[in-house]
Amino acid sequence: MADKRDYYEVLGVGRSASADEIKSAYRKMALQFHPDRNPDNPEAEDKFKEAAEAYEVLGDAGKRAQYDRFGHAGMNGQGFGDHFHSSEDVFSAFGDIFGDFFGFGAAAGGRRRPRAGADLRYNLTVSFRDAAKGTEVDLNIPKKEVCSDCSGSGSAPGHSAETCQHCRGQGQVTQSQGFFRISVPCPVCRGEGQVVTHPCAKCRGQGIVQVNKSLKVRIPGGVDNGSRLRLRGEGEPGDFGGPHGDLYVVIYVEEDKIFTRRGQDLVIVADISIVQAILGAKIEVPTLDEPVTLEIPKGTQSGKILRIKGMGLPHLGSTQKGDLLVEVSVRIPTKVTKKQEELLREFDKLEESRPLNKVKDFFKKAMGD
Ligand SMILES: [Zn+2]
Ligand SMILES: [Zn+2]
Repeated sequence: MADKRDYYEVLGVGRSASADEIKSAYRKMALQFHPDRNPDNPEAEDKFKEAAEAYEVLGDAGKRAQYDRFGHAGMNGQGFGDHFHSSEDVFSAFGDIFGDFFGFGAAAGGRRRPRAGADLRYNLTVSFRDAAKGTEVDLNIPKKEVCSDCSGSGSAPGHSAETCQHCRGQGQVTQSQGFFRISVPCPVCRGEGQVVTHPCAKCRGQGIVQVNKSLKVRIPGGVDNGSRLRLRGEGEPGDFGGPHGDLYVVIYVEEDKIFTRRGQDLVIVADISIVQAILGAKIEVPTLDEPVTLEIPKGTQSGKILRIKGMGLPHLGSTQKGDLLVEVSVRIPTKVTKKQEELLREFDKLEESRPLNKVKDFFKKAMGD
């Protein structure tokens, strides 16, 4: 921040201004440049944030003394400075001050600061094929929602919440206990600074109701176990005008009888006969769509993996796909007929490269003979 303006200049007060003068100058500026009154005006928003930053320092005796001695340099490295990124940041820092004179959202009143709503999690089980190809599901989410009858105010139509008489809207009351005076949340308004005098019938004054919300959710092809889909703003409502939380749909994928998954590749095991392995063959293999023909080369060994390009699972958010890996398993017959046995013995006699079959052959091989 090379050319930061002087905080006193920002608020338009003298260096000797009293705490009350500073507070009132800040209120004036906040009113003038408040984003609700200056929609789509980035200049006003900058001024609004600049004023909030100045007030954060000058409104605090300790920070103000530091600033008076060292200027902006004294504020660096202490977490002060350029951190009001949005007007929400400003509300959450100085909600009380605005609460006194803004009617926006539900932020009027002592302690009513906007807070984001809770995130929700929904565990969704999908079949292997739905996860592979993508699908659309209807979810029924039990959640809290802002009451539509009172827009969350909790008050019946034609009424509004009144400042709590017990705490005079502060949300806190001071109690004496022996020598001590301690502040506790007001028991009448439960710290909110306001009381609903005519509760809304639908939500009984709570401002929120329990609903079952139906949602159509598109599950993209290629999701895996543990994939999380984030649905922005589908969580619980925020407090006092804060934003909704998000809904996370966590995916569980069922196993498939035929396919297993390795990254974005699909794996299947194809049984072939010894003759097919030796002489080669064309076999039909299943895919996620129609079966395809696969050429088994001559002399294929058991355990060999043949790759069919692009027949695997889609990469999330891409048109690229993994491969289909076909693991060849050579079936050895457990029973043969007399005729087959004769032919195999005949075959064995003619087989030049027959593998080692006697104990002494193993030793020969081991000696490098
Ligand atoms: Zn209501
Ligand atoms: Zn109260």
